[in-house]
Amino acid sequence: MTETIKIAYLYEDLMNTYGDSGDVKILRYWLEQAGYAVAVDNISLDAPFDAMTYDFVFFGGGQDYEQTVVAKDLPRLKDTLTDYIEAGKPMLAICGGYQLLGSYYKTATGTVIPGLGILPLHTVFKADSRMIGDTEFETEFGLVRAFENHSGRTYFDDKAQLKPLGKMVQGYGNNPDDGVEGMRYKNTFGSYAHGPILRNDNIAKAIAQLIIDNRAAVTA
Ligand code: GLN
Repeated sequence: MTETIKIAYLYEDLMNTYGDSGDVKILRYWLEQAGYAVAVDNISLDAPFDAMTYDFVFFGGGQDYEQTVVAKDLPRLKDTLTDYIEAGKPMLAICGGYQLLGSYYKTATGTVIPGLGILPLHTVFKADSRMIGDTEFETEFGLVRAFENHSGRTYFDDKAQLKPLGKMVQGYGNNPDDGVEGMRYKNTFGSYAHGPILRNDNIAKAIAQLIIDNRAAVTA
């Protein structure tokens, strides 16, 4: 019998900038190639959510306005997502979703959008530039090419705990100061890379494999 891999897409209807939903479609493709069926649930405002019943969680990017809407609904997800992340289960969060894994995002208007506060990072706006354009960064999976468009600059509050996803070759990544892109904590990945990021087969196949390995470990 074909096994089904369950994917939770957090706020699919609100958090999907620059084609981030493509990441889920690409993972579906690789997982189906590996012989699995794939089911995707949109976990939107007020929808019940038990993270541990999923094999993968995706949180896409969003505009500041959508982030403020989502932020109001997030506190109810904190405990279940913390358990999921700490258990080493796989998750990918892009741009606005990545920012919301941290403690807060202070926007251009000075509004402080509270995040989940699960990972030790925060995001701030500074007036001089929006970080927009093509990016290239070297990761543990090889070179990744993508596109970024964000005003928030993300900084790690605990550099021992979080490691960058990549080292910048072109573009800004987390911020204009550190020369790094995204974050990995256990099997949770954060990134500013749109495009979508998983159009890069190296990282897409690696995350698909993590999902399969993790599922096998759970069901063995
Ligand atoms: N609104 C956030 C910012 O501008 C995130 C943007 C995004 O997700 N594309 O920094």
